[in-house]
Amino acid sequence: MGSVAKPRFISSLKPECAHPAWIEIDTAQFKRNLATIRKKIGKRLFCLPVKGNAYGHGLYEIAKNAEESVDYFGVAYLKEGIELRSKGIKKPILIFGAIYEDQISDLIELDLEFTICSKYKASLVAEKCKDRKCRVHLEIDTGMRRTGVRSENAMDLLSFVEKLGCFEIVGMYSHLATSDCPNDSFAKTQIETFSSLAKQVASQGLLCHLANSGGVAYYPDSYFDMVRPGLLAYGYFPDGKEDPEILPCLSLKARVSYFKVVAGGSGISYGHQYRAKEESRIVTVPLGYGDGYRKSLSRGKVLIRGKRFPIAGAICMDQFMVDIGKKEAYVGDEVVLIGKQGDEEISLWEVSRLAGSIPHEMLSSLTDRLPRFFL
Ligand SMILES: *Cc1c(COP(=O)(O)O)cnc(C)c1O
Repeated sequence: MGSVAKPRFISSLKPECAHPAWIEIDTAQFKRNLATIRKKIGKRLFCLPVKGNAYGHGLYEIAKNAEESVDYFGVAYLKEGIELRSKGIKKPILIFGAIYEDQISDLIELDLEFTICSKYKASLVAEKCKDRKCRVHLEIDTGMRRTGVRSENAMDLLSFVEKLGCFEIVGMYSHLATSDCPNDSFAKTQIETFSSLAKQVASQGLLCHLANSGGVAYYPDSYFDMVRPGLLAYGYFPDGKEDPEILPCLSLKARVSYFKVVAGGSGISYGHQYRAKEESRIVTVPLGYGDGYRKSLSRGKVLIRGKRFPIAGAICMDQFMVDIGKKEAYVGDEVVLIGKQGDEEISLWEVSRLAGSIPHEMLSSLTDRLPRFFL
């Protein structure tokens, strides 16, 4: 049998040398965030959302590091559940998204809990599940209007699913649409609606759950039996509030790949939208929108040698340039795009606002090309 020679030189490279841009996760800080949330929620269960590659932090590694500290993992899709199970994660996993008929046998085989959000989906599962009981959570729409039956139909769905006989109904949940800010009247209405449903099923031992990050941060009435804070667990409040007990654990870094001097007036990068005001030193950073560092950040700043410098010109797929004026920087210097360096910091919120986006989106856009290092 012909075998392909393994390129031995690659295995001798340190990971940070193999790729010049990367993500660092401060594992201790991540665990402190989990502990802070635990303290806040008391005896309720903690479901950690790890969808979107664990908000860009790395699906399996985050789950492995959190497995001792949480009770449940939440994912959006079957594929994410398969990855966690195949790598040995044993904790309950709940799939939030609506399921499809052709996924049912895998869901059962891999012992994944999933969402029933209509009678129709429940009937599809009932046709397939044979002698195994499927562990499901019923989803009720109390105002998000994404998936789930309307709250007035909740009890009807519950009795329908019970009669099908092939389900273990583990929980009932809903999702908050406007909990990002404290004291929102619609969030309060959703909590009241869900609360009256929870009372109606109180004797049946269902896990009732509603709170996302905003719920956990600002609405103690939304805790019920389990909470599902994603963004908050990774260190960010959904409205940008700062709190020393909950801190980011992700940094985005690279190493300068090139250095040159350009004449005053020189246009830089595609479209020449940036021009050096005077003779300037320009360094190249090997990371771009192909890594999830958006083109809309072309007016952003990065940290080199503890100082902020402006990005010069359009961000390319794999690289961009930085104008360091008359200052010093050399090939190999660390560049911080998100995170701290010396006394300076570029926060994810700063970057998100500049891109006209939100932390959830910026984080989950960070692609697999970037290696993740858990410190
Ligand atoms: C994404 C998601 C969450 C977590 O949302 P955050 O705003 O990150 O806390 C919780 N529940 C469901 C159903 C979700 O889809």
